[in-house]
Amino acid sequence: MATGLKKADGQRWHFDIYALLEGAQELYFGHEVQVNVNLVELVKVRRPNGEEVEKCYLSPTKRRGVERRTLLWAPTGDGQLLGDRWNCGIPKTCAKQECPVCNVYGGLITKDEKDRKRTTFIGRLTHGGGVAIQAQAPEEKQRAMHPSDIRRGGDSGEPTPFRRQYNQPGLLYPVYNHCLSVTDGEFQPVAYAFQDSLARIGAGNPKGVRISSHDGTPLLVFDRYLVPKGERPILSPSLEDSEKACEEFLRAARHVEGKERQTSHISTDNFERWSGQEALNKLAEFADSFVNEVLKKS
Ligand SMILES: [Zn+2]
Repeated sequence: MATGLKKADGQRWHFDIYALLEGAQELYFGHEVQVNVNLVELVKVRRPNGEEVEKCYLSPTKRRGVERRTLLWAPTGDGQLLGDRWNCGIPKTCAKQECPVCNVYGGLITKDEKDRKRTTFIGRLTHGGGVAIQAQAPEEKQRAMHPSDIRRGGDSGEPTPFRRQYNQPGLLYPVYNHCLSVTDGEFQPVAYAFQDSLARIGAGNPKGVRISSHDGTPLLVFDRYLVPKGERPILSPSLEDSEKACEEFLRAARHVEGKERQTSHISTDNFERWSGQEALNKLAEFADSFVNEVLKKS
């Protein structure tokens, strides 16, 4: 059966973003709630010696949600938000191929409605990584009690303190975004969302991560290709040393076709890689095109 995807005007490519993110302050990405304690998401990782350790987790599905919302709330030239322009939201996606968000993130309409047919439109952007490098346990803090308790005053009995776990500042999270068969134009919102979501990652407050750097070089790699010739800077979840993690990331970033390269832009048959500041500049170029060609147009 055919995919149903319309034919593109030009060449389709595969795109990958690899980054090592750092939480600049405490972060909360909720997992479950126990009696008055909001817990962060953790994953179990087995060390080479068989020992099990719990690590903080910047879940790819949650990062995807933040990126999607960043796009839906992006300002357009006529004073609207992009999501309002397309009548596209979370969870009520428009699932139109022309919508720059659903086009790559996918869309779902679960039942037939007046002007919307039941649709599953599979996204071509996938998210990975997120297991923290350092095995540092989350910290539990007391926060203000729930506002409804304040409003209700004496009616609700004894006020209950409210506790929340936080991922500690300085944790490093390797993250990856992959795009399958998209054009340069279709990739633009992905580049925009990746960069613009960094300040908004996390639930509640505070929020935000930065792209970590090593000797002034942003730990970021961006590939556009038909044949994956570069070594993929994907870090093993069993790595716990942040210095080793940076070195391993940079080592993989330099290797294309099994050879070590000295430049931060590598171009070979059917494969192109930008790393460090060049990768950041290239992503910004795509994001600028999205703003100028899509968001600012009415
Ligand atoms: Zn949409």
